[in-house]
Amino acid sequence: MEKEKMTNTEHLSPVGNGMKKIDSLSTIPYCGNSHASSDSEVETSPWPIRNQYEALHEKVNRRIADGTPFFSLEFFPPRTANGVANFFTRLDRFNEGGPVFVDITWHLGSDPSNMSKETSSSSIAAGCLNYCRVDTMLHMTCVQYAKEQTLKHLEQAKAIGLRSILALRGDLPPETSEESPKTVYQYRALDMIRWIKEAHNDYFTIACSGYPLGHPEAPSYRADLMYLKAKVDAGAQLIITQLFFEAEVFEQFVKDCREIGITVPIIPGIMPIMGYDSIRRIAKLSGLTIPENILADLEPIKHDDDAVRNYGKVKCVEMCRRLLQNKSAPSIHLYTMNREGNCREILQELGLWLKRPMRTLPWEPHGANHPIRCKEDVRPIFWSARPKSYIYRTRDWDDFPNGRWGNSSSPAFGDLADYYLFHLKSQTAKEDQLAMYGETLQSIEDVQNVFVNYITQEPNTKGVKVTTLPWTESESGVQPETKLINEQLVWCNQHGILTVNSQPSVNGAPSQDPLVGWGKPGGYCYQKAYLECFMSAELSATLLGIIEEYSPRINYHVINQSGTIDCSNSEPTTPIAVTWGVFPGAEIAQPTVVDPLSFRAWKTEAYEMWLNQWANLYPRDSASRGVIQNVHDTFHLVNLVDNDFQKPAIIFEILARMLSKFAIVFLTILLTQQQVQGFTEQIKSEKLQSLQFRFQFIDYIMEESLAKMKNQGIDTDELEMLKQVTGTVMKFQALRDELSENFDICQVMKDGAILHPNSTMSIKKSKSKKSKKHSPRFSTEKSNYVFP
Ligand SMILES: Cc1cc2nc3c(=O)[nH]c(=O)nc-3n(C[C@H](O)[C@H](O)[C@H](O)COP(=O)(O)OP(=O)(O)OC[C@H]3O[C@@H](n4cnc5c(N)ncnc54)[C@H](O)[C@@H]3O)c2cc1C
Repeated sequence: MEKEKMTNTEHLSPVGNGMKKIDSLSTIPYCGNSHASSDSEVETSPWPIRNQYEALHEKVNRRIADGTPFFSLEFFPPRTANGVANFFTRLDRFNEGGPVFVDITWHLGSDPSNMSKETSSSSIAAGCLNYCRVDTMLHMTCVQYAKEQTLKHLEQAKAIGLRSILALRGDLPPETSEESPKTVYQYRALDMIRWIKEAHNDYFTIACSGYPLGHPEAPSYRADLMYLKAKVDAGAQLIITQLFFEAEVFEQFVKDCREIGITVPIIPGIMPIMGYDSIRRIAKLSGLTIPENILADLEPIKHDDDAVRNYGKVKCVEMCRRLLQNKSAPSIHLYTMNREGNCREILQELGLWLKRPMRTLPWEPHGANHPIRCKEDVRPIFWSARPKSYIYRTRDWDDFPNGRWGNSSSPAFGDLADYYLFHLKSQTAKEDQLAMYGETLQSIEDVQNVFVNYITQEPNTKGVKVTTLPWTESESGVQPETKLINEQLVWCNQHGILTVNSQPSVNGAPSQDPLVGWGKPGGYCYQKAYLECFMSAELSATLLGIIEEYSPRINYHVINQSGTIDCSNSEPTTPIAVTWGVFPGAEIAQPTVVDPLSFRAWKTEAYEMWLNQWANLYPRDSASRGVIQNVHDTFHLVNLVDNDFQKPAIIFEILARMLSKFAIVFLTILLTQQQVQGFTEQIKSEKLQSLQFRFQFIDYIMEESLAKMKNQGIDTDELEMLKQVTGTVMKFQALRDELSENFDICQVMKDGAILHPNSTMSIKKSKSKKSKKHSPRFSTEKSNYVFP
């Protein structure tokens, strides 16, 4: 095959199937609307997005004043610990539609205030607020508790960060004995509302229940209305109603409330019919009668679950549409029964589900929903795919970076050990993980393939899509933005550079750009290209041999699992802004940084993921576990920032050079073992000057070297490992290109071997027996690279 000769200024770049010239390296300066597509239309959420806490009742009033209908959702706590992770995943999906708040029910029998029980109402509400970042209201009943106990519940809610309470009386369990006297309720919701006001003044938004048909225990509908008025007068700022089946019932109720001077928002509680038996049971428990016409409609389809659900959806949409259109309801409060499908469809049909809410920051902030985190607007980039973990590890912070990450002295990240007790950890079932990551692993190539499949979202050999990796909490594949550098990332992973985080460079994209935009409309967004990856110690040593040539344009940080290698050209405590935006009438925002100190905290977590989320899937002492354990023990974690966001990014070009150089270093080591001197003399000889001869000679040396090593008793596994370490590079293409440019093997070895004098890197040989077994024969120690 004819090869085009490259000039000295041309470099190899990883695009397409092989190596191309640098001028075709795709970088991502902002290029108009080229990545906008018809289905990625942005629907803006109301602006400004505040970085000040906004009380729920104020938010509701603002939305009502805006005239934009909205929705909220009720959930009950999942019953089992296993259900908790699924619950939060589901809530994340609901959150995409933009609920104004969610509320969590409180059930006497389920120990609802116990914060050490992951399924308690209080734990779940805390999770919704902190990890799903949605404004959360906790139901609280008072019927069974003394006043002091209720006050304790309120204190706890405050400590968790909750600021909205649905104050309820609740019900006592039904009397079992026939002779037992009629239940006497010591306290009512009205008492609780007064206690809240007394103890906390305006700290909490207080909501109360309303009964459009009157509470079953009320002496009369009128008495019930007056009691509701008393609750509002005592401090309730919102009313959420009991479910009802007919629009006119709610319309009349609102009218009656307004007539007696109730002015607070009245939000209709809507329960779509999801099953024939279930709706009958719920109606009975709530003391409601299902209208005859609905029962008649349901009768012929009552055994067909799908038909009942569909009927429920249609009826619900019809009723809600009427209430929203005639403005008797400002919004819809759905009793979800923790189900997703129907509820989402109903909200979509009503046009309440935000199509694609605009990103307020490149990562999802808590915004006005959280009393403490509302000001937070800067985070290290490392956790961008693990936001819940970041929130967990910073949960004890009293204050969050605002405006700047600052000259961080020592950010105190919470202990990772607790994380494994944490109910939000890995949500993917073991069998699903195995289907994605491989039932068995033979070699590093199998690992590479998992990364490649994750980036491409092509099904693996078992026909399964890799929708998540241990370093990502989401299960929906790569972020849309990542698709801009898909090809390069695939290339990296195919070559043993295992990518865990990245962003393309962006130079002034409009803030409403569907892929890379964020922040206030009319602004411009900027990003420095960033890549974070695991690579073998040999590759990282090679990288360190060349990386200083790119300083100060490139900032790097290389670290290993034990921390014995920790090498960077950044200021030790100075963060680098890697994402920023310029917006009308505002200061420059810089929401994402690369911070060397935080990288060390992240490093522990990133390495832990190999073992906890991957190696542990396989039996102890299995080869598969050994493959992952080896990566964990021997690979280095590397981050690279290309500071020149105005020029085409060079990170991938540097990595291509690293691979080429490494291939040469590798070859020289083989040569060393085969009396290098003799060979190099031959290479230099007249006969081998032509390109074709050189290629043939390299092929010959490789074959010879491997064969000889085999004869020397190095087992096939080790040889396999040698090949794996060099990856596809050893298929010679890069090597040949480089050699055709500048073939001075002695110089090449020195370049590749001797670390840059400015580098502070220290490399210690791994003491782990396991890693030795799997490691290639040559070590990472400097001396091994030095030409004898
Ligand atoms: C939106 C909503 C959410 C709910 N969430 C939960 C939950 O999480 N957990 C749970 O256990 N239950 C929940 N319930 C059910 C609720 O606890 C029961 O309906 C209970 O029977 C009444 O509680 P309440 O707070 O509405 O009571 P209250 O509002 O205190 O009173 C109930 C009724 O008693 C009557 N009453 C009391 N005092 C007077 C008076 N002086 N004059 C006239 N009438 C009076 C009124 O008819 C009044 O409506 C919820 C109900 C609604 C509507």
